Amino acid sequence: MDYKKRQTELRSLLDSHHLEVLLVTHAPNVRYLCGFTGSAGALLVSEAGSMFFTDGRYTAQAREEVNAARVVIARKAPLLAVAEHLAKQKKRTKAVRIGIEAEHLTVAERSRLVRLLPLPLRLRDTSSLVEQLRMVKDADEVKLIRDAALSGARLFDRALEAIHPGIKETEVAGVMEYAARVAGTEEMSFPTIIASGRRSALPHGRASTAEIPRSGFVVCDFGVILAGYCSDRTRTVHVGRPEGREREVYDTVREAQQAGIEAVRPDIAVEEVDRAARRVLKERGLAKYFTHSTGHGVGLEIHEMPRVAAGQHEVLRPGMVITIEPGVYIPGHLGVRIEDMVLVTEHGREVLAPGSTELVTI
Ligand code: ZN
Ligand code: ZN
Repeated sequence: MDYKKRQTELRSLLDSHHLEVLLVTHAPNVRYLCGFTGSAGALLVSEAGSMFFTDGRYTAQAREEVNAARVVIARKAPLLAVAEHLAKQKKRTKAVRIGIEAEHLTVAERSRLVRLLPLPLRLRDTSSLVEQLRMVKDADEVKLIRDAALSGARLFDRALEAIHPGIKETEVAGVMEYAARVAGTEEMSFPTIIASGRRSALPHGRASTAEIPRSGFVVCDFGVILAGYCSDRTRTVHVGRPEGREREVYDTVREAQQAGIEAVRPDIAVEEVDRAARRVLKERGLAKYFTHSTGHGVGLEIHEMPRVAAGQHEVLRPGMVITIEPGVYIPGHLGVRIEDMVLVTEHGREVLAPGSTELVTI
């Protein structure tokens, strides 16, 4: 990982936002900029260089992992050590604007910083500066994400072996998650979703103690974290023979997903990709049952920028990784979702861990 390059890019972003310093406290952003994988740490990025603050529990880990930053092991909370360090620096004549990650600092932490920092230090709320950089993955990241996608995809075979009428949703999830751990997964990207029968109409129906019914859809949405990077995939299977209407809904979602994937290319706005998938559902009168966005970025976090949704003007660039996951949810009745991860390439797209989306019946 080229941490220096990432920090250099961040510095020019700070420049354009008229900030002298950025205090990075969101763990995935800290990891992205210097490689530290622990949970307690703060990275201070300025023109003069970067300093990483953590506490005594992470002494060995910080020395081993942190790149392109000076490591400071604090005897107190890292954030207090940061404030003291900033306050100590003398010879300041003009205002220094210190950006904080407003979405990732508590109100209490913010007021503590304000109290400890003497003028002319001033805090400025920022939003998604590092996240903007993280949207476009470099070659090292693409490789890790592809590995995670392939590893995650294999869990679907375990689900197919486990699913049968009468088994609990949690047990199906357990079989998949155990297989993931055996394969070396750090953790799941999110609690595995197994939503069967009427529960399939819940877009985020986490595996429950409900038993898989004799007939109906089972939505399986799952992902693993490998070397820090998340995978995300959904397949919907049918237990028993699908009725005509069920097959129709499934085929339409499948077509919508295909249309979404085919719309992915550099220079297209994400709202256009959303529209391409939604249009297919609209033509069959199913758009009102598609209640979430078409997709999202994936990387160090399961949900990253950009959001692939109506009204989102972000333009796709090579190196972005997004999901395409249209769904139809008819309350109290049924739900279908199909999801794949797609890499934006120089000339189009690459589906990561491509696999059949044809309806599997059990
Ligand atoms: Zn998913
Ligand atoms: Zn997703």
